[in-house]
Amino acid sequence: MAYIEPAPIKDKENPLESMMERFNIAAEKLGLSDEVYSVLKNPAKQVIVSLPITMDNGKIKVFEGIRVVHSNILGPAKGGIRFAPDVHIDEVRALAAWMTWKCAVVDIPYGGGKGGVRCNPREMSKGEIERLMRAYTLAMIDVFGPDKDIPAPDMGTGPREMAWLMDEYSKAHGTTVNAVVTGKPLVLGGSLGRTEATGRGVMVSALAAMEKLKINPFQATCVVQGFGNVGSWAAQLLEERGLKIVSISDISGAYYNSNGINIQEAIKFRNENNGILEGFHGAEKLSSANELFELEVDVLVPAAVEDVITKKNVDKIKAKLIVEGANGPTSFNADKIINEKGIMVVPDILANAGGVTVSYFEWVQNRLGYKWTAERVNRRSDRIMKEAFDHVYHASVKYNVPMRIAAYIVAIDKVAQTYQYRGGY
Ligand code: NAD
Repeated sequence: MAYIEPAPIKDKENPLESMMERFNIAAEKLGLSDEVYSVLKNPAKQVIVSLPITMDNGKIKVFEGIRVVHSNILGPAKGGIRFAPDVHIDEVRALAAWMTWKCAVVDIPYGGGKGGVRCNPREMSKGEIERLMRAYTLAMIDVFGPDKDIPAPDMGTGPREMAWLMDEYSKAHGTTVNAVVTGKPLVLGGSLGRTEATGRGVMVSALAAMEKLKINPFQATCVVQGFGNVGSWAAQLLEERGLKIVSISDISGAYYNSNGINIQEAIKFRNENNGILEGFHGAEKLSSANELFELEVDVLVPAAVEDVITKKNVDKIKAKLIVEGANGPTSFNADKIINEKGIMVVPDILANAGGVTVSYFEWVQNRLGYKWTAERVNRRSDRIMKEAFDHVYHASVKYNVPMRIAAYIVAIDKVAQTYQYRGGY
């Protein structure tokens, strides 16, 4: 088909381009028509607004706000809002598409969206951020909606900003509408289980993959890169399931203990130490943070930032299984070598989809006007993650492709089929 580009020779450093490369391969394997390909490639809606904000010094500053709905074929768009200095429409478009595939792979009834405001929240006061969030919400009042487009936190935003969004949207509609946004504080209708949801999904998909690879969790070793929300929860839950976590890392470096790191102790230390592991005594510090990737272990969980497994270090990886907690941790050009080495990868759009799954549960609970117990949330998200894993695994066998391409095949097939049933003009 005309749209398939030849594989690039250089190692791509852009995870979003890497995502499109995989999308193209999956589209070809599926035999997607050029027509449906162009429907799925182009965003459904793109809105750019100017937001004049009175800063604390009394001067007006104009910010650019963006919202992209990549697809609403499966349902209302879902995706975070990023407050960062480098927000750009191209990146927002790609992140919105990423959300479409992630929601489709776990079979939740959402399309994909993403938003952003170009600003530096670290240099802004609480009042300035609040005015910006409220102005952005009002500017997007016809875009957002519990049946249209449901935002969530992303880089630079959190429960506090989602509370302002919900309040502004509710004021404009003259009634409380908590289902317009997820990632809210618990008292405003946030869901129990959301904090640990992504790490929990990483654990569920890691155990499902280990079963396929016949790795006994009680004899398995594991390393986790990144010890924030996703990494620390994944490490803790995997440790509870019997794995020995021999190395963890964060921005301060990598830490190793051949007898296994006590993850509860590491979390306690991090919480009492400004959020970092520097000075943690339960393990020795490795001379380089990257050494963690070269350790002889069964399972590797990258859960920090994008593009950490590339052509430069992939040769040195000895793990049998990689479970991608982070978004885009593996570059496109590393895929081929990983496949040649016979390493199984549970790709990001599957492995870290536990977060969006529990966001969906938050929306469901808001619409029901009811609160589920943490036990119910966990049980249902575990089931969704396990079913999604099995679905992707079967696709990988059926199409004889790695799990990553299989995940894209499952997602694209679902959206394409739904589009064909719904029809266009
Ligand atoms: P976080 O900010 O809570 O934690 C990030 C961790 O990575 C911190 O421990 C930080 O010190 C560490 N880190 C940063 N740069 C590093 C580096 N170069 N080397 C080693 N460690 C480094 O973030 P998070 O919410 O845990 O998100 C981690 C990844 O998971 C991101 O890619 C994010 O997009 C993805 N993700 C998160 C969620 C979620 O629900 N939080 C959902 C889906 C995907």
